[in-house]
Amino acid sequence: MSFNRRDFLKTSSAAAVASALPSSPYDVLTKNRPENFRSGRMKLSFKPFTIELKHVFTLSVMSRTTTPVVLTEVEYNGVVGYGEASMPPYLGESHESAMKFLSKVDLSKYENPFELEKILSDIDAIEAKNPAAKASVDIALHDLVGKLLNQNWCTIWGFDKTKAPHTTFTIAIDTPDVVRQKVKEAEGFKILKVKLGKSKESDREMIETIRSMSDVPLTADPNQGWKDKNYALEMAHWLKEKNVKYIEQPLPKEMRDDIAWITERSPLPILADEAFQRLSDMRNIQGAYSGVVIKLMKSTGMREAHKMVLLARALGLKIMLGCMTETSCAISAASHLSPMVDWADLDGALLIKNDVFEGMKVVDGKCVLSEGPGVGVKKL
Ligand code: MG
Repeated sequence: MSFNRRDFLKTSSAAAVASALPSSPYDVLTKNRPENFRSGRMKLSFKPFTIELKHVFTLSVMSRTTTPVVLTEVEYNGVVGYGEASMPPYLGESHESAMKFLSKVDLSKYENPFELEKILSDIDAIEAKNPAAKASVDIALHDLVGKLLNQNWCTIWGFDKTKAPHTTFTIAIDTPDVVRQKVKEAEGFKILKVKLGKSKESDREMIETIRSMSDVPLTADPNQGWKDKNYALEMAHWLKEKNVKYIEQPLPKEMRDDIAWITERSPLPILADEAFQRLSDMRNIQGAYSGVVIKLMKSTGMREAHKMVLLARALGLKIMLGCMTETSCAISAASHLSPMVDWADLDGALLIKNDVFEGMKVVDGKCVLSEGPGVGVKKL
């Protein structure tokens, strides 16, 4: 079908515009399931698990040594897809809330797992919020469908896995001694992410301590910890001199006008993390931030994160692909989007002691995607 502009204007109903858009890979999947497809019933199972962190993890808001996760499986004709919900406590989800939500998900009523768009929209509509619990089903279904196709998601989406970026390694707020130890541990990483926002003294001390040992580029994340736009702008100039590449969420997300003021003047890109949860938040981001931080545990999983990547690209926004502390299951799921982003922070599985999956690897600081089908993980 080809349109000239006049024809297009004559018939530019929403339906005509929609039909002129390229098909989403999800539509293609629904219509073109494999020839050897046998219909069956999907079965969802899930269990709580507690991730143990290698170090106490301190952000501007709290400290912790564990992260509650829920591990999910979707079984279909003997093939199993794996998923995960990671729920740092300050985000409001828990083992209890996730188990309660997942007990309301009935996959047995769908005959065709390739109808990801429909199934996942239905699950999203069960109840508001619960983004990590929703992501755990989304990831398991993507893993299952990829395995049924014997393809991984980087390939299904049509991305070039050789374009996967370096990942940052996160240095949380701590005493200079511990920070020095962590910088040593991070040897080999080509870029480090520094948590800031506890106090003015600690902000400068964190950066100076790292700079006394390493000259790799840094990124800064005050996690809404700064409260004053003038201080934030002053820090942006100082951090630029210290070879910092961008700043995540400098002020509380409610201070949108002040953040827009900083973005307009800042020598560094300002990225929305806490202010950017779901795709619909993109409306508030434009004009206030230079880019967005996408995480599967905010976006309800891979389907919406993929849409976020395409929309952010179309709007000229920068993209950072981040994570929570997660096992290699959710990290590997996210890694399939990484060839399309400017920066990645996919170190979540490296910060934990008891990983239960093997998947994406970090080699010389670079994300190396797993060759396996689906999200590319093996259970350990
Ligand atoms: Mg952040």
